[in-house]
Amino acid sequence: MTSYPDLELYIAGRWRASSDTLPVLNPADESVIGALAIASRADLDDALAAATDGHKVWSRTAPATRAEVILKAAALMRERVEEIAYSITLEHGKPLAQARLEVQRGCEFFEWDAAEALRAYGRVIPSAPDIRYIVLQQPIGPVAAFSPWNFPMSQPSRKVAGALAAGCSIILKAAEETPAGAIHIARAFHDAGLPAGVLNLVFGIPGDISAHLIPQPSIRLVAFTGSTAVGKHLTEIAARNMKPVLMELGGHAPVIVCDDVDPVAAAEVSVARKARNTGQVCTSPTRFFVHEKLYGAFVETFAERAKAIKIGNGLESGTQMGPVANHRRKNALEALVRDARDKGARLLAGGECAKGAGYFYPLTVMAELPEDARAMREEPFGPLALINPVRSLDDAIEKANALPFGLAAYAFTHSASNAHQLSERIEAGNLSINTLEASVAETPFGGVKESGYGREGGAEGLHHYMTVKNVSHRMT
Ligand code: NAD
Repeated sequence: MTSYPDLELYIAGRWRASSDTLPVLNPADESVIGALAIASRADLDDALAAATDGHKVWSRTAPATRAEVILKAAALMRERVEEIAYSITLEHGKPLAQARLEVQRGCEFFEWDAAEALRAYGRVIPSAPDIRYIVLQQPIGPVAAFSPWNFPMSQPSRKVAGALAAGCSIILKAAEETPAGAIHIARAFHDAGLPAGVLNLVFGIPGDISAHLIPQPSIRLVAFTGSTAVGKHLTEIAARNMKPVLMELGGHAPVIVCDDVDPVAAAEVSVARKARNTGQVCTSPTRFFVHEKLYGAFVETFAERAKAIKIGNGLESGTQMGPVANHRRKNALEALVRDARDKGARLLAGGECAKGAGYFYPLTVMAELPEDARAMREEPFGPLALINPVRSLDDAIEKANALPFGLAAYAFTHSASNAHQLSERIEAGNLSINTLEASVAETPFGGVKESGYGREGGAEGLHHYMTVKNVSHRMT
């Protein structure tokens, strides 16, 4: 099935249109594909009231029942994979095969967290016989969540899965540029029998929605994925209102290529991974620090393979990389590449935008960048690979840790000693050695330093959505 859904709000278990709309564009040709309903202040207040009511019901629903509803919704999304993937490609631009994998990944987040709902144990603390100390894990309360446009379905899945598995209700403001992924999630939960008000979906002017929702007394947690700048802003609003936050923010992932690996094989897997989602991934491999012994071979292979990546409309078979998702990314990439060239970096592939409609930007490879090139410090969030030689592992680790980010980091080495050094010393929430996969549903994902706070997925995934209550009970 290949239809694009109606772009409505979902509040208190009902779909709601609005006379106020925003156009949604296809980044491959800039055509308008839908009109997105914008929430009014009254809609947001209805969502708050619904989430308050929904929380009362859902937090008192047995974990096994919660898990059953979540698994049913995930099964529906698996059945609807073609329809959801088509919507994602249309609004985001990524190749259809990647959109299908995204749906699968989103379902894995739901399935993992549903199982974790059954294991959210408290504990009993050893004590004298006449008193019992019991630690309860309880759902924290209604969540205000904000998800970005780079993975229209799997990004909101992380937040909805964590909140619902923990027993919380949620108001999700998904990305206005790519709303269909979240709309499909709401549809699946509606069809799976989720009680009204537990999941509410709104769209609008992001700053107005967060400014209204976060200070409300009924909101107990703020969960955000996006840029560090916006994350800091939302954290400030939350702090003024004493709300905890879960912040999954930007990255600038280093890749350390040690002197004991095959440089051709390392470059080949790196190009494929860099092209994924047109580089618009917070864990995208970006700063390559390659041992000087292997540098020439790595750079040559990387540039050659990058030039061979087939760019096009994600709906056309054979497309390996789609457009960037919006004009902001295209402009930002152009500026970063221009700045690096002006400062003396070598351009080895890409760098020139295709003419015509669509936000196409090629896989671009730059080498020997000076430290003051903006691209070496600012997250490109696009298909830009930066390659520099290093003299030693110490040199590489120092450069990798030099930025305020610490989300994902990667390394290629067969040496146990190198791997140990890296595990101990790299400043990142996720280090992957000989693989460029940063996280899966069963592993905790999140950042250190300015890459954020808290973890999604893994055994840690529900922690932020729960609060701890100690009960001291003296037997009388
Ligand atoms: P942006 O920071 O303006 O927006 C990112 C997301 O945050 C969008 O979905 C937007 O709707 C939302 N947002 C923005 N202001 C908000 C506010 N005041 N309240 C609530 N939500 C708000 O940037 P952008 O141009 O859309 O994206 C570019 C940058 O965002 C990238 O450079 C990258 O660092 C970051 N980003 C990170 C991720 C990630 O997975 N960590 C995903 C998307 C974007």
